[in-house]
Amino acid sequence: MVEPGQGPGREEPGQSSGSGQDPGRAATGRAYLAGLVLDRRRVVVVGGGEVAQRRLPSLLAAGADVVVVAPEVTPAVEALAGGGELTWWARGYRPGDVEGAWYALALTSDPGVNAAVAAEAEAARVFCVRADDATGGTAVTPATGRHGRVRIGVLGGGDPRRAAVVRDGVVDALREGRIDSLARRGGKTPGVAIVGGGPGDPDLITVRGRRLLAHADVVVADRLAPQGLLEELPPHVEVVDAAKLPRGRAMAQEAINALLVDRARQGRYVVRLKGGDPFVFGRGFEEVEACVAAGVAVTVVPGITSAVGVPGLAGIPLTHRGVAHEAVVVSGHLAPGDPESLVDWTALARLRGTLVVLMGVERLDEIAKALLDGGRSGATPVAIVQDGTLPGERTTTTVLADLAETVVREEVRPPAIVVVGEVVALGDRLRS
Ligand code: SAH
Repeated sequence: MVEPGQGPGREEPGQSSGSGQDPGRAATGRAYLAGLVLDRRRVVVVGGGEVAQRRLPSLLAAGADVVVVAPEVTPAVEALAGGGELTWWARGYRPGDVEGAWYALALTSDPGVNAAVAAEAEAARVFCVRADDATGGTAVTPATGRHGRVRIGVLGGGDPRRAAVVRDGVVDALREGRIDSLARRGGKTPGVAIVGGGPGDPDLITVRGRRLLAHADVVVADRLAPQGLLEELPPHVEVVDAAKLPRGRAMAQEAINALLVDRARQGRYVVRLKGGDPFVFGRGFEEVEACVAAGVAVTVVPGITSAVGVPGLAGIPLTHRGVAHEAVVVSGHLAPGDPESLVDWTALARLRGTLVVLMGVERLDEIAKALLDGGRSGATPVAIVQDGTLPGERTTTTVLADLAETVVREEVRPPAIVVVGEVVALGDRLRS
């Protein structure tokens, strides 16, 4: 399927050309690509070593009635035989073995045997692959890949490594939606995907998140969603900044919910791109509920939450053997003592493990005081990571007793993650 732009009848690069060329080689370069329907059809594989082991899974996946002819086979091939997935004739090749087969593979390490198999196959008009000499058979095995129902086969013109590289490129492009988004346009089902974009670095979104983003007609993005991902979107995609939605009398979240439902009902595919994970202080579940209530198809793609990813990339593990056996993620958006707060700061103060505070920058004086009052030691190490995973990332370390003062002095600004606990000192070990 991937052929350099040459005229018909010309061989691919990598093939010999000019006078004295090997006719078999030129013929292989002109091989016709086809998909063999092998379901319940006999395929004879002569040889039971590593090469056979690599070829067998796709033959079996195609439903072929596989017979392996070899005095000895690898344990994996033996297991397939033992499991009844193929038939193993435990002996050397004998003339006549190819009889009744639709396809043959000569995969022994003995060129004489492979040549004999190929010759018998040729006489019987059975297409045959020769592992030791691609030009000595009547078929060549392409580098294959799969993406959903799409199958890719690439012949590299005698250069299997080139074939594999091209195959990988095509598979990656499909996975990332670079090809499929165009091909499937129009045929896709409308709906909403609530996608966690990860902590900020555009590379930290999941493969699925990126794929769905490539399918989007509309992207509704949070302020903390990775902005780098938005820059990659093609011009026809409507990008809505959720923070700037006109609201009328509705609350911000209601306006977002209404927009998601409205665009999906227009038949467009909507990606709601959020920072971190949608369900960690992300209000993602409210959006799911709104879609379900409106009868709009909705799917959720988890993301790397900043609560874990930001400290991790700053060199702070949330748990460590012998140091912390617990990590609690807590929102600091309400001050301790606020009647609306659902956080038991006194209980948290008694923890020995790691405390991760999100949305807390503005109230760190009250939070530190609550933890100290509740009994956590003032000497507990604390790290504040601002703009984690982004180019401006900045980590400030201090101790709990000095936290409030440090935040003011260092002019820490949101978004920032505050990590309280002995694990912070592990990060110092890396930095020193
Ligand atoms: N759903 C998100 C969290 C949303 S709450 C997630 O799973 O990551 C917003 C808070 O997340 C911010 O106030 C800040 O505490 C934290 N945060 C998000 N991205 C951050 C980043 N890149 N660096 C530091 N903190 C971040």
